[in-house]
Amino acid sequence: MASQVRKLVIIGSGPAGLTAAIYAARGGLNPLVVTGHEVGGQLLLATEIEDFPGFPQGIKGVDLMAKLKEQASRFQTEFLESKVSSADFSQNPLIINTEAGDFLTQTVILATGSTANWLGLPSEKKLIGKGVSACAVCDGPFFKNKQVVIVGGGDVAMKEALYLSKFASNIAVIHRRDILRAQEALQQQIKTHPNIKLILNSTVEDILGEEKVVGVKIKNTKTEEMSEMPTDGIFLAIGSHPNTEFLKGQIDLDETGHIKVFNSTKTSVKGVFAAGDVADLRYRQAVTAAASGCKAALDVEEYLRSTQ
Ligand code: NAP
Repeated sequence: MASQVRKLVIIGSGPAGLTAAIYAARGGLNPLVVTGHEVGGQLLLATEIEDFPGFPQGIKGVDLMAKLKEQASRFQTEFLESKVSSADFSQNPLIINTEAGDFLTQTVILATGSTANWLGLPSEKKLIGKGVSACAVCDGPFFKNKQVVIVGGGDVAMKEALYLSKFASNIAVIHRRDILRAQEALQQQIKTHPNIKLILNSTVEDILGEEKVVGVKIKNTKTEEMSEMPTDGIFLAIGSHPNTEFLKGQIDLDETGHIKVFNSTKTSVKGVFAAGDVADLRYRQAVTAAASGCKAALDVEEYLRSTQ
């Protein structure tokens, strides 16, 4: 265990964590950011971000995160590429246990975001990396001139379908209801795209193939009719869950596992603040995450002033 007590440890390196780092570092708190295994969070999976203010031509997720990291580094932020395994918030200094060692700190900003959901089929697990993916940006280029299926009816499913249309020859979006959840503008792009077809009221019951994906078994939820569709790949875009496993018993979570916050970023534990998707079931945008990271850093500054 390190004997030094830090002023602030930020857990997570998406837009919330890195914006918190920029503000906290400029405020002289010398924050340590425990980044996870990769700096950048979920936005690393986003191709083109067109709605982050300040980039009229759009910006790639990976480029935006690199810029945020560079900006945080400019003001003395320390980065640790490691995962937090557990935390002890029963006393202050707070204890953060990582794969690379343990840290004592006066305050923490939790910005661990959320992670993609899977269907939970045994065939899905067996064929991950062999045609099953939850990341079109990572795996799309492997499907040049091939057929792919996307499961989901939200913004991510629409965006992934549009991204995959750069590579795949035929794309089917399979959604369990008769109405898409995605924003209207994205729906229109999908509905008018010549290579994308929508299959509504349908669920994927099985993924076919032994060494690689060769097809999917689909159930029509209205008629209960089963059918098979050949495909080379299946991309899951069925939402995500907050990364709060390591916090169980330490802090108040809601029924969906998100961190409960009050007065913006305060949590049930003094000195512990939360920002971004880990505490936001509603907006989940890069810009709202960044804004809450800013608020959390300012709340930390005020808290430290009040405890001096
Ligand atoms: P989402 O909006 O929660 O959509 C998840 C989709 O998956 C829904 O259509 C849902 O169906 C479906 N689904 C969930 N579980 C399923 C299952 N077991 N089997 C089959 N289908 C299932 O999640 P998201 O698309 O990942 O988006 C997350 C958040 O990020 C949203 O708030 C979104 O607005 C935001 N986002 C915004 C942008 C942007 O450009 N502004 C881009 C990406 C994401 P139902 O509709 O039937 O529930």
